[in-house]
Amino acid sequence: MHEKSLVQSLLTQVEQLRVQNDATSVHRVTVEIGPLSGVEPDLVQSAFNELAPEQFDAPLVLDIRLIRMQIRCRSCRHVAAVEGITLKCPECGSSKVQIIRGDEFRLIDVSMQVPV
Ligand SMILES: [Zn+2]
Repeated sequence: MHEKSLVQSLLTQVEQLRVQNDATSVHRVTVEIGPLSGVEPDLVQSAFNELAPEQFDAPLVLDIRLIRMQIRCRSCRHVAAVEGITLKCPECGSSKVQIIRGDEFRLIDVSMQVPV
């Protein structure tokens, strides 16, 4: 399963950050998923539920932010965030658009407990 290996490398990244920050535990991990990433948020969540307890003692919450696809029109230069996967400029109707955002699957935030 594709998502499982993604989550595995995500958790490795989280663990590295924990060590770098001398944190005792990690509470929350926030990721961004774009509609073109080819990643299923539900599968990410279930892979996370399965793998996170194997690596972290404290309960770890996964916060998934679904981001919208963003396009730039080659005809009128308009930039827009669109619903779903739309390859049409909402401003002038042109289909000559360039995708500038939407294929992300990335870690954007980790909330950790750092000893005082
Ligand atoms: Zn346009």
